[in-house]
Amino acid sequence: MRNKLLELERLSAALDPNGEERKNLRDQVVEHTEEFIEDIYKTKAYHTHKSAPRIKATELGKELQDIEDIVKYLSAELDEDGINPASGGHLGYIPGGGIYASSLADYWAAISNRYAGVYFANPGAVRIENKLIRWVSNLIGYPATAHGNLTSGGSIANLIGIVSARHGMQIKSRDIENSVIYVSKQSHASISKSIQVAGLAEAHIRFVAMDDQYRMDPNLLEKQVIEDKKKGLNPFLIAASAGTTDLGAVDPMASLAKICKEHNLWLHVDAAYGGFFILTDEGRTKFRGIELSDSLAIDPHKGMFLPYGLGICIVRDKKIMLEAFTFDASYLQDIKVANEEINPMDVSPEMTKHFRGLRMWLPLALYGIEPFKNALDEKLLLAKYFYSEVQKIPGFVVGPAPQLSVVTFRYVPEDASKSDEFNKRILDEVHKDGRVFFSSTSLEGKFTLRLAILSFRTHLKTIDLTLLVLNEKIELINQESVSKPSIS
Ligand SMILES: *Cc1c(COP(=O)(O)O)cnc(C)c1O
Repeated sequence: MRNKLLELERLSAALDPNGEERKNLRDQVVEHTEEFIEDIYKTKAYHTHKSAPRIKATELGKELQDIEDIVKYLSAELDEDGINPASGGHLGYIPGGGIYASSLADYWAAISNRYAGVYFANPGAVRIENKLIRWVSNLIGYPATAHGNLTSGGSIANLIGIVSARHGMQIKSRDIENSVIYVSKQSHASISKSIQVAGLAEAHIRFVAMDDQYRMDPNLLEKQVIEDKKKGLNPFLIAASAGTTDLGAVDPMASLAKICKEHNLWLHVDAAYGGFFILTDEGRTKFRGIELSDSLAIDPHKGMFLPYGLGICIVRDKKIMLEAFTFDASYLQDIKVANEEINPMDVSPEMTKHFRGLRMWLPLALYGIEPFKNALDEKLLLAKYFYSEVQKIPGFVVGPAPQLSVVTFRYVPEDASKSDEFNKRILDEVHKDGRVFFSSTSLEGKFTLRLAILSFRTHLKTIDLTLLVLNEKIELINQESVSKPSIS
């Protein structure tokens, strides 16, 4: 048996490379990633999809490849296909980030493989994660009773918020049919998904009427709550947005909080996109009342420019979170050591996870909050700048003035009935060009172009380039329609 064990050890030694082997791997990967960053302001924000892989992959796990070939394969497969979220020219959906310090934190966290799920396993890692949660909680203005959890993103953060609401409002299975949840047509898809996953889909889901800025109308909402109560229903949850994905609309949180207090409802705020604008004076003013909510989702991989993989849920009353997510097991008897910290696994559906706090902690430790605040102020101002400049291009009309950093606009051609067709064509041409990337939405039934500014690499010259690209494409399409009667 001893000989067999030694043989197996030798045969699996590749999994634990020595210093020289590690250096070779690391040098190849770092050389590629350095080139990637050095070129990032020159590379395209979007490549139209390649239909087939450009380098034939070897059969996974059977044919061995060396690191040089792997870097070539991955670069060909990943770097010139689809959206480039690391580019400042990414102005679609909600743009990605990817600040460098976070990548090193991820590397470090993965190499040391610290277990941040329970205090017993690594007190320091849990202290770091809980400190981040307290920092965000204070930023929002929550009391000391609040606590939270670091998640993979905003969707899971919303799920934790909705589950906490269900638990905190003591909604049992038999109550669901009789219960009411208030959302808006602007609510993110992950709110509906959370309602479904939390087993609440059979509740009455009311879409609250919105004002002309696409914010929930608190007066109509309150009327609806009163009406629902009269009908014998049980209104228990309002899911509001501090910055909708579609338009950046900010629901009137102070008024909503007042309604929740008056009628005993839970206020969940989806601040996944907009939350970190609270670092700016403008954002803080717009988010007034957010501190009165019962739970909140916020995405550092959006507003703190981190690489994908970090959302946060904070719940005003940590007791509710703990009750909803703490479970015990015999094999966990040793972890019950006296400590001041809450175990992350006791406030989350997850147990083992990447030590994801380090990727947010390291950049904050290195740079402080000022550069983040200034970058966010820059994004708010860039949105205002684009909003005013795009109106100077003849033919463009705009949607509502940007409340945060999303701008909607569309071109009205001479034959206004061709508007949808024309704007689809603009989007198509912009995508083929690829220097910048943005997406579209449907506003009042009309195909509408939509710019979202949130990358830390998006600057004045990016927006000027976007305006230039728009001018070029309009000219191109108009010229075509002169020579051909139809624009399609
Ligand atoms: C992005 C977003 C989400 C979902 O967050 P993920 O991190 O993509 O899971 C939820 N709500 C809003 C408003 C968002 O913008």
